[in-house]
Amino acid sequence: MLNNVNNDSKPKKLVIVGGGTAGWMAANLLATQWKDTEIILVESQEIGIIGVGEGSTPHLKLFFDAIGVADADWMPECNATYKNGITFDKWSTIEGFESYFHPFAAQTDDIFTVPHFFNNIYARMQGYQVDAHPDDYFLESYLSKNNLGPIPDECFPFGIAYGYHFDSALLGQFLSKNAQKHGVKRIVGTVNEVLMHNDGSLNAVKLNDNTLLTADFFIDCSGFRSLLMQSTLKVNYQSFKDNLYNDSAVVMPSEISQTLPVETKSTALSNGWAWQIPLRNRFGNGYVYSSDYINSEQAEVELRQHLGLLDSDIQARHLQMKVGRVEKHWHKNCLAVGLSQGFIEPLEATAIALSFNTIAQFMQYFHEGKGTNKFEAAFNQDINARFDGIRDYVVCHYKTNQRNDTAYWRDNAANNHISETLKRILHLWQNSQNFAGDMHKYNLIGSYQPKSWACMLAGYGVFPTDNVKQSFDYSAYHQEKVALKDFIRRCGLNFKKHHELLKN
Ligand SMILES: Cc1cc2nc3c(=O)[nH]c(=O)nc-3n(C[C@H](O)[C@H](O)[C@H](O)COP(=O)(O)OP(=O)(O)OC[C@H]3O[C@@H](n4cnc5c(N)ncnc54)[C@H](O)[C@@H]3O)c2cc1C
Repeated sequence: MLNNVNNDSKPKKLVIVGGGTAGWMAANLLATQWKDTEIILVESQEIGIIGVGEGSTPHLKLFFDAIGVADADWMPECNATYKNGITFDKWSTIEGFESYFHPFAAQTDDIFTVPHFFNNIYARMQGYQVDAHPDDYFLESYLSKNNLGPIPDECFPFGIAYGYHFDSALLGQFLSKNAQKHGVKRIVGTVNEVLMHNDGSLNAVKLNDNTLLTADFFIDCSGFRSLLMQSTLKVNYQSFKDNLYNDSAVVMPSEISQTLPVETKSTALSNGWAWQIPLRNRFGNGYVYSSDYINSEQAEVELRQHLGLLDSDIQARHLQMKVGRVEKHWHKNCLAVGLSQGFIEPLEATAIALSFNTIAQFMQYFHEGKGTNKFEAAFNQDINARFDGIRDYVVCHYKTNQRNDTAYWRDNAANNHISETLKRILHLWQNSQNFAGDMHKYNLIGSYQPKSWACMLAGYGVFPTDNVKQSFDYSAYHQEKVALKDFIRRCGLNFKKHHELLKN
């Protein structure tokens, strides 16, 4: 199928349905890169946005770089803070492993400290009682513990990746303004009919006031409704319910602390986990749980207890989540972005990253295919692999949790509905003396690097408990440990306190 494209292989006219984070991200990227395309975004005031999703990975920085917006241009307006990574608290009950930090990447780690981390993991696997807790090997773990932001002084020659926390409603408003500055036309209205061509592609959307919006290409950002991709084009949906049990969340704000954390905190509760996201003016909190194990009232009470807000009159909001993905993210003349294409529960805060990858990669494939669907299948395969790679990593948290207090955690640990890829990764962890090398060798690198897998598995204390050995050159090991600690501390001297960084 050949689309109606301009001389530069871009659609002449494009309609985006939905004005949540996904819709406005798509509008910004398309408007700044496809300058000759007429772009209209329609959003429904009566339906509104989901209004959660306040933590990101470093992909949000890539997105802002791509549209030419600096941190200082958007962060204050969105009450945004910096994020070094995520602390996972109480997912393991093994002594010494009750908590660990999953950092974003820093060059100093890869060059200097991660090799020691892996050496000690291998020693630990053989029964030597050395320190293989990830928190002692990563720069951003040190930064987080000391409330230091992720942007170094100019003289620090190593790169460091970081994410953000932000108010999702304010981010949407910022992105809406910015896209309109770049020529995107915003229409407020509700789509109540979708018109198709004879070949099954999309022709137009009709709004409740009878406005007809025709286009050559459509982007479905209508959230869990998936109005175009699933409801109209009937693209199949694969649920992840058999290995990701959580389907609900209850959310509420709380007062921000004096020292502003530089991390998201994920604390395991009885039947799921709670996030705590620091913004400049409040904490965003939420309990993500499975309604098969706990009902919404019990979940709200447990979240309030966890936050010390049992008697508070702060309102909580309850949400349902659909966890899985479509089989095709690009089909005919439609691309699904955001919740309309799928969602892997928010444990690693990856939804915005997936939206960014989807739009950026689509633009590249569409252009390379000269405006045809030549690369549709390859694109769908790539995006599915990204979703499945993230799913496997998130599933691994549940599979390897070290709790035993409720049926929820026991069922998660006993669940064998996991992908072959995840089974092979877990087998390597237990059996390989070169986990990182073997992950490369057996082509198991998906959305996460071996060091991230090692952080999780070592962080939960997934090590053999028998076969403890004593003979080891512990004096050399202790010297090395002191040197590493000092190295990371000295790197840390190049970073400012979080609140000072936010003044810039
Ligand atoms: C509990 C929870 C926690 C999350 N946490 C994170 C996180 O920490 N990090 C992260 O990256 N992501 C997170 N997410 C995901 C994140 O919220 C979404 O990916 C993000 O907000 C994008 O949503 P969206 O734009 O796809 O959908 P929505 O925000 O739902 O927007 C849908 C849009 O479509 C419009 N619309 C729908 N139907 C019609 C119609 N008929 N006509 C016109 N317009 C229509 C709506 O009005 C709205 O503008 C979380 C999600 C949940 C459920």
